[in-house]
Amino acid sequence: MSKEGLLLVISGPSGAGKGTICQGLLKRDESICLSISCTTRQPRTGEQDGVNYFFLKKGDFEKLIEEDQLLEYAQVYDNYYGTPRSYVLDKLQRGEDVILEIDIQGAMQIKQKFPQGVLVFIVPPCLSILRERLTKRGTDSMESIEKRLHSVCEELTHTERYDYLVVNDNLEQALDQVEAIIRAEKSRPYRFDLKKFMKC
Ligand code: 5GP
Repeated sequence: MSKEGLLLVISGPSGAGKGTICQGLLKRDESICLSISCTTRQPRTGEQDGVNYFFLKKGDFEKLIEEDQLLEYAQVYDNYYGTPRSYVLDKLQRGEDVILEIDIQGAMQIKQKFPQGVLVFIVPPCLSILRERLTKRGTDSMESIEKRLHSVCEELTHTERYDYLVVNDNLEQALDQVEAIIRAEKSRPYRFDLKKFMKC
C-alpha cells in the first residue's frame, strides 16, 4: 500500500552486469518496468529501436533537452543518453516501480530531483574480470574497451554517493541482494499510504 512507485537507479561500469541484473529483476517481478532511454549512439548488432533504446539523431535529442522532456541526461563516451520524463513520472504516480539503468552523472541528477529515489551501484568482482567480460561480449572495439576500463577507476570513487553497492560475482546472489534492497526500501514508513489505509 505505497503512495507512489519506487524509482530504482542502477549504475555501474559496462560489463558489471547491470543490464543482466535489470532483466533478471523484470523476470522475477513482472510489475516492475524498465525505462527505455534515448541515445544518439549507433545501435549495436541485435539492438532494436524502441526496445533497447530510442535511437535519435543529435538534433532530435537536443530538441528534447530544449523542450524539457528529459528527466535527466548526460554525455557518455561522446554520445548523449537521457531518460524520457513523462513515461517515468506517469508510472511512478500510478504506483508502479521503475528502474533506470543510467550512468553516474544521470544518477546524481535523479538524486537531486528525487531524494526518495534509490541508487544502487553494481561492481564486478575485480578489474581483470571486467576486462574479460567486455572482451567476451565482443560488442566493442579494443579501443572502446580500453576507454571504458580507464573510466572505471574514476567512476568507483563516486560510489559513496549511492545508497547501496552490490558486487556482481554470482548473478543469482546479486539479484537476491537487489531484491532485498527493493523490499527494504518499500517498507520505509514514509512510503505507507495512510489515507488509502484509512479508506479501506
Ligand atoms: P551503452 O552504450 O553501453 O548502452 O551505455 C553506456 C552508458 O550509458 C551506461 O553506463 C549506461 O548505463 C548509460 N546510460 C544508458 N541510458 C542512459 C540514460 O538515459 N541516462 C544516462 N545518464 N545514462 C544512460
